[in-house]
Amino acid sequence: MTKPQTYDSPASAELFRRALAVTPGGVHSPVRAYKGVGGTPVFFRSAEGARMTSVDGVSFIDFCQSFGPLILGHRDPDVAAVVRETLDLAWSFGACEPYSLELAEWLTKRIPWAEKVRFVSSGTEAVMSALRIARAATGRRRLLKFDGCYHGHVDSLLVKAGSGLAGPVTSSSAGVSSEVAEETIVASLDSEQDVTDAFEKYEGEIAAVILEPLPANNGLLIQRRAFLDHVVATARAHGALVIFDEVISGLRVAVGGMAELLGIRPDLVTYGKVIGGGFPIGCYAGRADLMDLVAPIGPVYQAGTLSANPVGVRAGLATLQKAEEIGIWNVLENRSRDFAAELDGRFRAVGAPLQVAQFGSLLWIHELSDKPIRRVDQITPEHAQRFAGFFHAALREGVYLAPNAYEVGFLSAAHDQQTLETAADALERAARTIDGN
Ligand code: PLP
Repeated sequence: MTKPQTYDSPASAELFRRALAVTPGGVHSPVRAYKGVGGTPVFFRSAEGARMTSVDGVSFIDFCQSFGPLILGHRDPDVAAVVRETLDLAWSFGACEPYSLELAEWLTKRIPWAEKVRFVSSGTEAVMSALRIARAATGRRRLLKFDGCYHGHVDSLLVKAGSGLAGPVTSSSAGVSSEVAEETIVASLDSEQDVTDAFEKYEGEIAAVILEPLPANNGLLIQRRAFLDHVVATARAHGALVIFDEVISGLRVAVGGMAELLGIRPDLVTYGKVIGGGFPIGCYAGRADLMDLVAPIGPVYQAGTLSANPVGVRAGLATLQKAEEIGIWNVLENRSRDFAAELDGRFRAVGAPLQVAQFGSLLWIHELSDKPIRRVDQITPEHAQRFAGFFHAALREGVYLAPNAYEVGFLSAAHDQQTLETAADALERAARTIDGN
C-alpha cells in the first residue's frame, strides 16, 4: 500500500513543533499524537455541538467526541448553564457538599447493582480501586482480563498474553514489574474454553474477572451473549468477583450500560466518560458489602483531593438529566443504526473495502469481513494502514474521526440528520480515495 497523503494544517504544525519540545511526544495522551495514522495532529481551538474548529479555522464534524464523554455533543447549552452557575458557587471544596450526593442518588436510584458509589477523577482510578476491593474481599491476588479489553493505565492490567493461557504474561508497558504482570491472566475474548481453563489452572487464586462487556478499545468487538454468560457463571462458580468495566458503555448504551441490556448484575462496576459530561469524573460502584470495605469505614484505602469535583458532578448530572429527558439512548441507537447502514451502502457502492460495526451510539469503521469481528486476532494488519489513508481523506473532507484504526467513534445528540447526511457524503468521498478500490 502506498503511504497516505496526510492532512495539512500549518498552524497545527507550528504548535506541534513547540509541544514536542516541552511534552513527551507533544501530547498528554498517546493516541493524540497520530502515531497510528501518520502526519501531524490537528490542534483545535473550539467546539460546539457535533463540530470542532481547528486553529486554522477549519470546521470538522467530530465523531471522536472526546473519546466518548460528550453524549450531548460539545458545549451543550443546558450543561454549560449549570457549569457557569457552579463556577459562581465554588469549584472545589475538599469537603462535604450536596452536589455529588445528588449524582450518587441519581445513579443508585436507577442502577440497582450500584448499591453504593464512590467518585474519583478518571476511569483508570475507578478500575484501580475496584481491583483493590476485589483482592481485599477475596484474599486472592490474581486477576483475569481479556486480550483486546483496555482498562486504563493500571499497572496490573497493562499486560499482554504470551501464546494463549500457557504462555507467560508480560507487561505491555515498560516500568511495570514482571511480578505485577505475572499476577494477571489474559484470556481470549469469544473463547469459553479459555475462561474455563484459566479458572481451572488457577483454582482459588483469581480475585476477579474484569471485562468490558462491550469491548470498544481495540475495535468494537461485540461479544456473544453465551460467552458473557459463561464468563459470569464460571467466575461465580470459582468464587471470583465479576467487575464490569463500563467506562465507555455505562450511561452510553443505556443508563445501566451493558449490565442493564444483558440483565447481568456485576459485583462491581466502573464508570467514567459520560458520567462527567466531559469533565474529569470517574466512579466505581457495586454491592454495598464490597463498597463498605473502602476507607473510612473499611480497610481498603482510596482517596482523592479533587474527587467529586462540584463542577464535574454537576455537569455530569445535568448531562444525564437531559439525556433522560430526551430519551437519548433510543434516539441515538436508531440514528446510529441508520447511519451505519447508510455508510455501509455507500462504501459498497464505491467499492471501498470498509464496513461499519455499530452498537448503540458506538461505531467502528473496519475492513470488510464476512463474519463479525469478536477478537483482536481477527483484525488484519492491513486494516491500520488502510484506515490511515481513510482518516486523512476524511479530514480533507471535513470529518474528524478518532486518529487510530482501533478506536471507535461516537454519535451525540448534536449529530442531527442534516449533519449525518453531510458526514455520509464526506465519508463516501473519502472512501473513494483509499487503496483497495
Ligand atoms: N476503562 C475503559 C473501558 C476505557 O475505555 C478507559 C479509557 O478509555 C478507561 C478504563 C480509562 O479511563 P480514563 O482514560 O478516564 O483513565
